[in-house]
Amino acid sequence: MSIAENLNELRSAIPANVRLVAVSKTKPVKSIQEAYNAGQRIFGENRVQELTQKQPLLPADIEWHLIGHLQKNKVKYIAPFISLIHSVDSAELLKTINKEAAKNGRIINCLLQFHIAKEETKFGLSFEEAVELVKSKDFAEMKNIKICGVMGMATLTEDETIIRNEFRELYGIFRTLKEQDFQHSDDFKEISMGMSGDYKIATEEGSTLVRIGSAIFGERG
Ligand SMILES: *Cc1c(COP(=O)(O)O)cnc(C)c1O
Repeated sequence: MSIAENLNELRSAIPANVRLVAVSKTKPVKSIQEAYNAGQRIFGENRVQELTQKQPLLPADIEWHLIGHLQKNKVKYIAPFISLIHSVDSAELLKTINKEAAKNGRIINCLLQFHIAKEETKFGLSFEEAVELVKSKDFAEMKNIKICGVMGMATLTEDETIIRNEFRELYGIFRTLKEQDFQHSDDFKEISMGMSGDYKIATEEGSTLVRIGSAIFGERG
């Protein structure tokens, strides 16, 4: 199937209130352009270097999302144009994003990434760390970032019960933070969860942003 056909199929499988982030990591500019021509406007990359190479070669109205682990020293390269950073996993990183956003006269939208999977390797905050962050004095002084919600990755497993429980955990974290710390924020509304293998479960459990790569562009080499 072509990229356009894959996108059409996904759009009919995903509820209307859920936005699709086309994860184009490792894929060439030509494939991204093909998805763009089929109407896709939100693309996700996980590496800064790859993103900054592709971005100038593609249409300016693309909304670029950074979905992978972000090192503080690389924030400056994406600060001029990034639409949403899904992977904020420390107070220090958020501070750097705020600083680089200010330098660019921007407010950068961010999600707090939570560690919900069983795997050790996945990045993310614990609930306690997030609460400490959003209640800190530093956070109160950050004027150039906006926290738009939460993000998480489920364990890579065939066991749907494990995946569903992890997505429920993330949804619970979202609800609690919303009630405790973001009750007056209209911006705090996104739950980024679900990939090619688990997006159906994710949308059933309240996802508002699914991040899908291989189901659009084919398997990565
Ligand atoms: C690669 C990646 C995805 C997309 O994975 P697929 O299984 O190809 O859909 C989603 N989220 C993150 C954080 C990724 O790194």
